[in-house]
Amino acid sequence: MPIINRIAEFHTEMSQWRHHLHANPELSYQEYETARFVAQKLRSYGIEVTEGVGGTGVVGVLYGNRKGARSIGLRADMDALAIEERNDFAHRSVNKGVMHACGHDGHTTMLLGAARYLAETKNFAGRVVFIFQPAEEMGGKDGGAARMIREGLFTKFQCDEIYGIHNWPGMDIGTFAVKAGPMMASGDSFEIEVTATGMHAAQPQKGADVVLTAGHILVALQQVSARNIDPLDAIVVSATQIHGGDAYNVLPNKVTICGPIRAFSPAAPAAAEPAIRRIIDGIALSTGAQCKLSYHQQYPTLINSHAAALTAEAAGLSVFNKVDTNPPQTMIVEDFAFMLEDRPGCYGWIGNGPDDNARILHSAWFDFNNDALPYGASYFAALVEAP
Ligand SMILES: [Zn+2]
Ligand SMILES: [Zn+2]
Repeated sequence: MPIINRIAEFHTEMSQWRHHLHANPELSYQEYETARFVAQKLRSYGIEVTEGVGGTGVVGVLYGNRKGARSIGLRADMDALAIEERNDFAHRSVNKGVMHACGHDGHTTMLLGAARYLAETKNFAGRVVFIFQPAEEMGGKDGGAARMIREGLFTKFQCDEIYGIHNWPGMDIGTFAVKAGPMMASGDSFEIEVTATGMHAAQPQKGADVVLTAGHILVALQQVSARNIDPLDAIVVSATQIHGGDAYNVLPNKVTICGPIRAFSPAAPAAAEPAIRRIIDGIALSTGAQCKLSYHQQYPTLINSHAAALTAEAAGLSVFNKVDTNPPQTMIVEDFAFMLEDRPGCYGWIGNGPDDNARILHSAWFDFNNDALPYGASYFAALVEAP
């Protein structure tokens, strides 16, 4: 069996922890009960615990019995989403409108499982820093990773390398995917405000039409990826919200359009921002409305260091049935990217089984697969025990 035998022995207990966490989900920076649960478990294993790191974050430190100065950081995220769960199994959420729809209940459980095993065996050199992070779903610079770093995570708990994992629906149980270099996208966001005086719908000649202006902008935004970015650089510019107008016979005085921009190379969003500005300025000139762009950089690209990706691959090969070292990149963002900006390390995806019946991330029918628990816990442990 590739998973660690001792970890397999407490698979049932890990499943119970996971069900408890799933039934009691908490939103970003409100993970009080989750943090208490984590801290209590770590202390019961004899691990030194610091609470309140970056809001509701919890950090545990454990020293091994082998000689060495390596300090390795392992991170799990703890927060849930504002989604009303549609599952009706016994461990469904008891917190109305809040749900573990991204599997962070599983991530937290896997890291706790690794902590319990490593505290029992201590068969490693140096020390391990267990990082239980809040507010991954809030993301950006206000999210848990960036905040923990701002509040001294890596100065108080020095880490030479840092590792994390996310469950991946659609990948088989017992499989793992990791790659060196950019693996998950950078995330920026834009908001365009189109304004004019507003007027009677039957007298459009009396002013500028912000709805028509917004329509031109929506179409023209698609030329950013088609005509302003190097065709070899991937980028997505999506308008996801448009707001404006209250009455059927009034041309309103304001319409707002906003959405995300995802890319891998920093050159792509750097070219997108001035392109959007040129587009809205040109359209404003043609319709007579005023257009203003607010542009925000939110997530860096998630980039795995080459050395850490090799360490992750080796640990993965010792645990999983299959390791894919060239998975397709995804335009999904992940705030572990902030930790990887600060420290060399590696993020990987662990198979969560079939993604049918809406068992996909952020779905009201999602559930982390308990069968993945011993694989993730064993992988974390293998990273620490690596020679
Ligand atoms: Zn998520
Ligand atoms: Zn997630």
